[in-house]
Amino acid sequence: MQHEPTPRRRRAERAPLPFYPYKQFLIETYGAPLQRVPIDLGLGCPHRRPGGAGGCTFCPADGARAKHTQEPGGDSLEEQIRRGLAFARRRYRAARFMAYLQAYTATFAPPARQRALFERVLAAYPFDALSIATRPDCLPPATLDLLAGLRNRLDVWVELGVQTVHDPTLARVNRGHDWAASRRAILALHDRGLRVAAHVILGLPGETAAHFARTADTLAALPLSGIKIHNLHVVRDTALEREFRATPFPVYDAYAYADILIEFLARLPPDLPIMRLNTDTPAAELVAPRWTLAKGQFRQYLIAEMNRRGRRQGSLLASPANTA
Ligand code: SF4
Repeated sequence: MQHEPTPRRRRAERAPLPFYPYKQFLIETYGAPLQRVPIDLGLGCPHRRPGGAGGCTFCPADGARAKHTQEPGGDSLEEQIRRGLAFARRRYRAARFMAYLQAYTATFAPPARQRALFERVLAAYPFDALSIATRPDCLPPATLDLLAGLRNRLDVWVELGVQTVHDPTLARVNRGHDWAASRRAILALHDRGLRVAAHVILGLPGETAAHFARTADTLAALPLSGIKIHNLHVVRDTALEREFRATPFPVYDAYAYADILIEFLARLPPDLPIMRLNTDTPAAELVAPRWTLAKGQFRQYLIAEMNRRGRRQGSLLASPANTA
């Protein structure tokens, strides 16, 4: 299956880095590095029981919400957007923005309520793009049609929590859906002209280099517009922390993760924007792994290692016959 338009591929080939950073894609596509404004619609997660129990074993109870959406007084969408814009302008000197419906599952509501919430977000500020984070099993046809309708007004991204293509792992971390659901969602979104970004986690318990390679090869053959790669973090007060303490499983230091990530990137199409290379968790909430490299140092190490090894994004791209 062809991936995306040829011009993006040509631009990626000119990239000086050994991978194609999302920021570069944003500048080439929108003329500026759109800054994300995280917004919590307050819809919760369909995969948690009332009160917050259940859910994916790695997920903290706050659903990985952006910090500024958790501050007192941040309840209204308009107020969240006002504060998010002010923060982005102050911190990053940003001038162009993407609304990022990030927390929990941003399509977990009846279509009429979804529509009303999306309209409020779009009325609050003339965003250049809208990005919606959700689960693969939370995209009924009515939601797909609603999102496709919004596409006439601005670019719409859907960020899907895929995590891995291996069903035994998905069951072990209690994702509540299988790989087939992710694949169906990616194709359905793409068919409606929506941009799809996949979230993956490298290092889930029970997985090895062979699993990571299969996940990369499988995703490489699908029509994605971006990929967000996380290394597994064991976060406090999660089911995964309890599992880790009871039966420790391997977690990766920065150098071991770089080895994994280099091979993973090498199996992805060279024109697929890389939205994230590793996970951020506040130190007070992180159980393992504890890295000695800061985020910027890790990125520099990764680039140097890829160059030293002669590895680039796409240099191990599997042939379509291997990913059928
Ligand atoms: S990762 Fe997403 S789907 Fe899983 S429990 Fe957290 S918010 Fe819900």
